[in-house]
Amino acid sequence: MELKSVKGIKIDPKIFTFKFSCDCKGECCNYGVYTDFKEYNRIISLKEEIINLMDESQSKNIKEWFEEPQKDEDFDSGIAVGTEIINDKCTFLDKNGLCVLQRLAIQKGLHKWSFKPIYCILFPLTIYENTLTIDDEHIDRLSTCNKNNINNRTIFEHCKEELLYFFGEDGFNELLKIKDEILVNNGVV
Ligand code: SF4
Ligand code: SF4
Repeated sequence: MELKSVKGIKIDPKIFTFKFSCDCKGECCNYGVYTDFKEYNRIISLKEEIINLMDESQSKNIKEWFEEPQKDEDFDSGIAVGTEIINDKCTFLDKNGLCVLQRLAIQKGLHKWSFKPIYCILFPLTIYENTLTIDDEHIDRLSTCNKNNINNRTIFEHCKEELLYFFGEDGFNELLKIKDEILVNNGVV
């Protein structure tokens, strides 16, 4: 079956039926993330403000923040740059389990995700081979993620705010239409 697309990104139908609940304290940030080269540059341009928000569990040496850039076609610029792990957590996670990139955006009165890498925003969803899908590899390696299914929500319902942010209102409405078609075709509604 050919997958439907929104804004050029194919949609894995599983996102509308897979059950997911999130009830831990951010274990997903313990492995770091791959940023797009453009996101990396924006983070570096904010280094002084980011350093001001960091605590003793983090490195204030920007040379320790990122891995070497590598080619990756799943990123807009074609280049991915991984964040380093420091004290068993992403270099940007503070000792209270908060992302300093998000804290900085809030402090500056911007949208909370203005400086956050898109793959952090989308998790537990991800873009793989130009398809919006479930990041089951990362979910599976985490000890707490989705292990206690405390409600009966789908991963799509769980990630609505993130998907609205990512696709914009017009794209999100297209996604809703695709969801309705798929659920009708599957006899779910
Ligand atoms: S950049 Fe922020 S949200 Fe993303 S993994 Fe690091 S601490 Fe978590
Ligand atoms: S997405 Fe998973 S690992 Fe991250 S906070 Fe939620 S349950 Fe925890």
